Amino acid sequence: MANPLYDALFAPLEGRQTDFLILADGRRISGDAFLALVARTAHALRAAGLGQGDRIAVQVAKSPEALAVYGAAVALGAVFLPLNTAYQTEELEYFIGNATPRIFLCDGGKATALAPICADHGAHLLTLNADGSGSLADLAAGQPGAITPVDREAGDLAALLYTSGTTGRSKGAMLTQRNLLSNAEVLADLWRFTDRDVLLHALPIFHSHGLFVACNVSLLAGGAMIFLPGFDLEAVLRLLPQATAMMGVPTFYTRLLDDARFDRGLAAHMRLFVSGSAPLLAETHASFAARSGHRILERYGMTETNMNTSNPYEGDRRAGTVGLPLPGVEARIMAEGVEVPPGEVGVIEVRGPNVFQGYWQMPEKTAEELRADGWFITGDLGVVDAEGYVQIVGRQKDLVISGGFNVYPKEVELVLDEVPGVLESAVIGVPHPDFGEAVFAVLVPRPGVVLQVDAVLAAIEARLARFKQPKAAVVLAELPRNAMGKVQKAQLRAEYGGWFL
Ligand code: ATP
Ligand code: MG
Repeated sequence: MANPLYDALFAPLEGRQTDFLILADGRRISGDAFLALVARTAHALRAAGLGQGDRIAVQVAKSPEALAVYGAAVALGAVFLPLNTAYQTEELEYFIGNATPRIFLCDGGKATALAPICADHGAHLLTLNADGSGSLADLAAGQPGAITPVDREAGDLAALLYTSGTTGRSKGAMLTQRNLLSNAEVLADLWRFTDRDVLLHALPIFHSHGLFVACNVSLLAGGAMIFLPGFDLEAVLRLLPQATAMMGVPTFYTRLLDDARFDRGLAAHMRLFVSGSAPLLAETHASFAARSGHRILERYGMTETNMNTSNPYEGDRRAGTVGLPLPGVEARIMAEGVEVPPGEVGVIEVRGPNVFQGYWQMPEKTAEELRADGWFITGDLGVVDAEGYVQIVGRQKDLVISGGFNVYPKEVELVLDEVPGVLESAVIGVPHPDFGEAVFAVLVPRPGVVLQVDAVLAAIEARLARFKQPKAAVVLAELPRNAMGKVQKAQLRAEYGGWFL
C-alpha cells in the first residue's frame, strides 16, 4: 500500500543533507531535518487525536513548522485546511462551524478568543506561533523523527481549501491526492523544475498559489525554497541573486519595478518568473522584460482546480494571455449552453484530473458549478484565439449590464489606464434607476498627480462606445486588494452602490 502524495512529495526528503528551506535570517534546514520535523509534528497531531479523514484547520504565520503541518496531515491521511491569516474571530467561526475540524491550530495570541468557538464545534485547539513555539511544539518535542505514513488512495481527500471569497462567501473546495499530485507533476515538468532550482517563496501558504503551486512543485522536483514570511522588498532584492525561480502575484512584479535597484544584474541568476492569481497587465509584462530581460510566464488557476492554463516555457509567452490548457486539462468557452468558436467571449469551463470533487457541504452549489460529466464552470469570462491561447476578460459576476448592453470592466479599465496621470483603475456596475446598472470607475492617480475626474472621462470619450463610458468616477489613493493582490470589487460595489439612487 502507499500514500501517493506523501510518497511523491515528502518521502524523497529522507536522508537529504542539502538545503530544503533557506530562511530570511540565514537559517538553513536540510531536507532530512525538515522531514524529521514533519514526523514529530505528525506524531504530536496523532497524539492530539487527529486521524484519517479528520480535518485540521490551520491559521498560523508562515514558517517551516507551519509547512511541516501540511506534511504531517498528508502522512496521517488527514485533510489539511489552511486559513487566511487575516481572518478575524467572526469569520473563523464560519470556517470552524462549516468544516468542523478535529484540530484547530492558531497563533497563541488568538487562543483565548477562539477557545469558546472551538469548544462549541468540538475542535481541539493547539497553538503554533510565528517563531515555531506553542503547544504543538511542546507536544512534538521528544516525538520520534520518523513516521510510517498511513495508506491512502489517490481519490482520498487531502485538502479542504476555501476560495478567496472575492465574489461571495468562501466555499470549501474538496481536493484529493490525485488532484494535487497530477497538477504538481504537470507544472514541474512544464516549467522545467529540477533539484537544482531554488524558488524564492514570498507568497502566503494558506492559498493554492503559495502552497500547492509553489511548494508542491518544489517538493516534487527536489528543489529548495528561500522561504520568506511575506513579500518584503528589501529581503527579495537581497536574496534574488541566490534564486533560480520566483512565483508571484502581479503586485510583486510592480513593486520590483518601482525600485530602481531591480535590474538585469539582480535577475541574472534567475531562469523563471511566474505570475498568477490576478491579471498581469501587458504593460507590466513589457516593462519587466525591458528592465530584467525576463518575460514573465503568466498562468491561470483557482482554488477548485489548481492550475488550468499556462504560457509555454519555451515558445511564445503572450502578454495579456494566460496561455494554453495544461497537458491533460481541457478548456472550452461556453455561451448559452454551447461552445463558442475562437474569438468569442464566454464562460471558461475546464475538465481534468485537477478538478475538485465539489464544495464541502454545499451540494446545490456543487451541482450548479460542476457538471455531471466533469466540466467545472469557472465563472471567469474568457476568449480563446485561433492558436488556443486563453485570455481572461473578467469575472462573470463583475460583468456590467447597462441599458441592456454588456460591458466588460477590463476593456474599460485598459482604456482608463492609458490616460496620462492614471496609474490604475477598477470598473464596476452600480444600480441606476434608468439603466439598471451604470458603469462606475474608481481611479488611482500616479504618484504626485492630482486627477480631475471630468478630464479623465473626457479623455476616453472618443475611444469607447457611449454605453461603456463610466457615468461617474471617484479618485482613491489605492484600490482595495486582498493578500493575493485581487481587487475587491464587491467592497467597491458596497461602497458606491448608492451613487445614483
Ligand atoms: P471566490 O471564488 O470565493 O469568489 P476567488 O475566485 O478569488 O474567490 P481563488 O480561487 O483564490 O478565489 O481565485 C481564483 C480566481 O483568480 C480565478 O477564478 C480568476 O478569476 C483569478 N485568476 C487567477 N489567475 C489569474 C490570472 N492569471 N489572470 C486573471 N485572473 C486570474
Ligand atoms: Mg472563485
